[in-house]
Amino acid sequence: MFHRRAHLSKILGTLALTLLVGSFLLVSTVQSESSSNRNAQLPPIAGDLLRGRTVIIDPGHGGWDPGARGKNVIEATINLEVALKLRTWLKMAGARVLMTWNHPRAIPATRKYRVYERSHWINAQHADVLIDIHCNSGPAAFKNPQTFFWEGSASFHLAHDVQEELQFFTHSHRDVKRINQYVLKHAHIPAINVEIGYVTNPHEERLLMTSAYQDELTWYIFVGMERWLVKGRWPPGMLDAPPPTDLLVR
Ligand SMILES: [Zn+2]
Repeated sequence: MFHRRAHLSKILGTLALTLLVGSFLLVSTVQSESSSNRNAQLPPIAGDLLRGRTVIIDPGHGGWDPGARGKNVIEATINLEVALKLRTWLKMAGARVLMTWNHPRAIPATRKYRVYERSHWINAQHADVLIDIHCNSGPAAFKNPQTFFWEGSASFHLAHDVQEELQFFTHSHRDVKRINQYVLKHAHIPAINVEIGYVTNPHEERLLMTSAYQDELTWYIFVGMERWLVKGRWPPGMLDAPPPTDLLVR
């Protein structure tokens, strides 16, 4: 009797442990499935279409200069986070990526990284393209990213390709715009500035602070840049082949 009761409690104990472990596994499976599903929305990057290309990313502001202020975050923080994610996509596609600054403490808190210093450094690198990353500010209702250029058809087409992807991503009709901005104006290479959204819009500020949103946002910026960078670089034989029409439909 004693023996059977002990046996029963042992079975019950094992059962409880099994249920506990089972439910833990279930929870962790569900969690890992949902996070892998989210990542699965971003297509894998195949090949190295950008091999041999050098991209400079210039996250706006930094150090003593916070840029625009949202309720919970300063622009410079978001600019850097987004720039680093964009760098990851570009590197995955084979590009060499340089950044004017790449760490929260890269510019001392007492110092302003001035635009003419950035321009001087940028022009010394002999890169293929420059992308500035900024956040916009304005009335609380203003929202969505917008891509700017100064002049030249190369910069215009680059801005256009990036903005078209951002329009698709945000369902907005915001178009590219010319802007008289020091770094763009003095760059000796095609150059754009992506104002990635409004930190002064509470909803968009929250999105811009979200890692998953930054992943998607930078994916679309990357796709626009890659489109522009690979144009004219197709092997001649491929130009004669009919396009894979199924890939042209979204
Ligand atoms: Zn700015």
